[in-house]
Amino acid sequence: MNKIFYIANWKMNKTAIESKSFIETFLSSYQKSEDKDVVLCPSVIALSKLGNFEGISFGAQNVNEQKSGAYTGEISVDMLKELNIKYCIVGHSERRSLYKETDNAINDKIKLLTEANITPILCIGETWEQKQDAIGEEIVSNQLRSCLDGLEACEIVIAYEPIWAIGTGLSASLEDVSCMNTVIKKQMNKLGYMDDQFYILYGGSVNINNVNALKKAKYINGFLIGGASLDADNFLELIKK
Ligand code: PEP
Repeated sequence: MNKIFYIANWKMNKTAIESKSFIETFLSSYQKSEDKDVVLCPSVIALSKLGNFEGISFGAQNVNEQKSGAYTGEISVDMLKELNIKYCIVGHSERRSLYKETDNAINDKIKLLTEANITPILCIGETWEQKQDAIGEEIVSNQLRSCLDGLEACEIVIAYEPIWAIGTGLSASLEDVSCMNTVIKKQMNKLGYMDDQFYILYGGSVNINNVNALKKAKYINGFLIGGASLDADNFLELIKK
């Protein structure tokens, strides 16, 4: 598995019309290649209107942990399934902190997604205080253990996103990412995942100036990108690098 993922997390940005216009600009210059996988995660509303485009895949940003029922405003896995998406982000730190999403709920989400053949992009990462207390590795290992508890090993993307690096302009160092990726790989193997069943991504203030250095991290299979994915030309430049 040598390809590099560039996954754009647009969060609550871009209407369906803006998403389409981004894709048109992006595809007018993007050179598809075997070693790159570009995944866009727009709003679910945009996903429902976009259709298919050669050279890029789509993902959702969240799913509810229940199959169906009285959960006003929520999106179920069956609803996502109709959108023809390949991926779904779960456990993003914004969802954990703002919407109190727990490892237990994330575990349920991953189970539903894998049953529906949608590959989960599981976000994990430590806070700045946890890093200072030198417990980051323990936190990340525990998140993996509880989010994947009792699940059959199957294809999954793990995005290591230190919380202190998200949207702050302060990216983790190459050494930090290499160390954490090694911890993640060991823990995934311990949990029964073979090396070709998971990809490890880094996310947190990735931009055109640091992407090349971060690409040298151990076991890195790509990036989850927020702010630097919002402008088509900037995102293209980042991928070209
Ligand atoms: C994210 O929110 O997943 C993210 C990585 O954001 P940013 O690239 O803006 O730090």
